[in-house]
Amino acid sequence: MSEHSSELPVLLVEDDDGIATPLSAALRGDGYPVVRVATGGAALAAAEQGVAAVVLDLGLPDVDGVEVCRRLRVVSPGTPVLMLTARTSEADVVVGLDAGADDYVTKPFRLAELLARLRALLRRAAGPEQASGGRRTLTAQDVRVDLDARRAWVGDTQLELAPKEFDLLALLIDKAGSVVTRERLMEDVWDTNWFGSTKTLDMHVSWLRRKLGDDASRPRYLTTVRGVGFRFEPDGA
Ligand code: CA
Repeated sequence: MSEHSSELPVLLVEDDDGIATPLSAALRGDGYPVVRVATGGAALAAAEQGVAAVVLDLGLPDVDGVEVCRRLRVVSPGTPVLMLTARTSEADVVVGLDAGADDYVTKPFRLAELLARLRALLRRAAGPEQASGGRRTLTAQDVRVDLDARRAWVGDTQLELAPKEFDLLALLIDKAGSVVTRERLMEDVWDTNWFGSTKTLDMHVSWLRRKLGDDASRPRYLTTVRGVGFRFEPDGA
């Protein structure tokens, strides 16, 4: 069972035993350690312990799979997510991919197809990270984020970040070069749909900027895109 070098398990999130039982067996047969949970809440708790990949059912009893996927993207941005969906409409697939899923398989699926998709996702995810000893790190300019240790550095200097500041930085660096909307940041970092003022977000951005040594009027790292959101610059300006 040592075909896969990673010790981290594949997280299977599926409330239907009729699907989860044979699928767990197939994954173990393919050499993956498996953690199986039946709810979105348990999935997020398990993901915080570190997982190699997530196979995520869209229809869960507590939290919708799409919402679980969004939150997973915050808890562990680098982890591949393969969505299981009974919904075949294009809109649902788009929503799933938009929430951060890397690929999807429509029920009923063939086990062989699911395993092939999962292998492809794990290969892709392993690519750049093997060089850093298997740790999941994100880098833009001279800023580096270690998602497993929840530590961040500018050059060689470690940043003292509050949890929300870390989540904010990780999400922005994960999307470096693209604008992340204020709504997305509020949803992902504060776990809420925000209809009112986003003063909290602006305060955290300003604290984060100060810790990065960035200047809002002449930003080197974090650019404000007025009325839309923020962009972490991939290259020095
Ligand atoms: Ca289900």
